[in-house]
Amino acid sequence: MNDYEIVMGLEVHIELATQRKIFCRCKNTFAEAANTNVCPVCLGLPGALPVLNPEALSCAVRMGLALQGQINRNSRFDRKNYFYPDNATAYQITQFYEPILKGGQVEVQTEAGETKVIRIHEMHMEDDAGKLTHDLERRVSLVDFNRKGVPLLEIVTEPDFRNADEVIAFLEKIRMFAMYLGISDGKLHEGSMRADVNLSLRKVEEEALGVRTEMKNLNSFTSIRRAVAYEAERQAQVLGAGGKVVFETRRFDEADGTTKVMRTKEEVMDYRYFPEPDLLPVHLPEEYIRKMEEQMPEFREEKAERYMRELSLTQEEAQILTRHPATAVLFEETLRLWQEGAEDERPEDSETRRAKTIAARMCGDLMYLCREKKADPGQWKITPEAFAELLRMQEDGVITTKTARDVFALMFDKNIEPMVYVNECHLLITKDEDALEVAVDAVLKAQEKSVSDYLSGKEKAAGHLLGCVMKETNGQADPAAARKLLLKKLAERKAAGTM
Ligand SMILES: [Zn+2]
Repeated sequence: MNDYEIVMGLEVHIELATQRKIFCRCKNTFAEAANTNVCPVCLGLPGALPVLNPEALSCAVRMGLALQGQINRNSRFDRKNYFYPDNATAYQITQFYEPILKGGQVEVQTEAGETKVIRIHEMHMEDDAGKLTHDLERRVSLVDFNRKGVPLLEIVTEPDFRNADEVIAFLEKIRMFAMYLGISDGKLHEGSMRADVNLSLRKVEEEALGVRTEMKNLNSFTSIRRAVAYEAERQAQVLGAGGKVVFETRRFDEADGTTKVMRTKEEVMDYRYFPEPDLLPVHLPEEYIRKMEEQMPEFREEKAERYMRELSLTQEEAQILTRHPATAVLFEETLRLWQEGAEDERPEDSETRRAKTIAARMCGDLMYLCREKKADPGQWKITPEAFAELLRMQEDGVITTKTARDVFALMFDKNIEPMVYVNECHLLITKDEDALEVAVDAVLKAQEKSVSDYLSGKEKAAGHLLGCVMKETNGQADPAAARKLLLKKLAERKAAGTM
């Protein structure tokens, strides 16, 4: 293996989360009853005419801009002819001769911390096929055409990858583009993003590319890593033994971690591409492109970089907050609302301080809750309005930090108005000094062991006693006042004891 260098190129399919399918008015939804979102167009019935969905077009143009390629002002569609039971039209509408995007580049960070440029060959629009389910028990195959006609973008790269880490860094970046553009949820395991890896080996120092194999539909980063490792080793053994790698399509087997032949060169189909006669060429005026450029969002890397520069967040915080657009939105909106509702003498200082507080609550409690509840970012009920209100109450000292955290956890699954909730549940910090004194006395009486520990010099025992006081008051005591009174009473006892 050491004699060879791995050379890889990718074909990445992104399923677009448009309202409708690409060439008809059928709904584009996931996991609905089979064959409920179908019509004569996506079923390929005679005489039905496809019309390009403008929403799919705008998704493609914005992704093209993110990939920094040349948006084709005049692209068009072609027919790729093949029969398969999940493809009712017996052809796929794709862009073969004039794709929407030519060229482009994406920068990825390598393991060594360097920046590497991956060149994009092209990107085109096409429609997805239906889905086959093989029912082994009943010995039948079922077809669901709901997915037929769902818009896809296919991004084809140049053979610029040399290891699996680069492949994964690239896919992660594409996934972030798609999510921040709002054109796909980027879920590999649900098939919203699928990658085919073309892999060949060549002798180190050799220029010419070796014969490649294509690995289809790898649907997780783990599968990609395993498939690349296996296939590179397999090819190295073939070449090492003086054999030849055969140009073929291979399927990665999750169960045993190997790749198996799907079809060989002899069987590669002739798709007989020809211009799609039912669709007009797509002409994009300059003005349209400019409008799309104006709609480009701030992507993950620039965002994370800004959080560190302007809000003094750590790199780790910035990474966590930008990993999903929903998390970044909650963070930014909460900060904006909290700032707006406050009257500060020096807003610049307060912004950094508040950003830190929000980041801490989100990177800690919120991420913990997501893991605990197996929820994706954004599946929470927390709104920036409620979150900002809760933080304001904590800042104003009307609730304790503990109450704020408890209410925050409840807000994850329930629409709670923090102010109303803490009032109803009597969680506001009480200024009732008599009640506090009763609570402190009760704790000192009940916790004899800790009191004597403290009096004999173990100062840590005070922390335990304070916790007991807070518990005794249902978290309503002002922690500073409780601590002051507790220490005062302990000091009195100490003085009494030494007299
Ligand atoms: Zn349809």
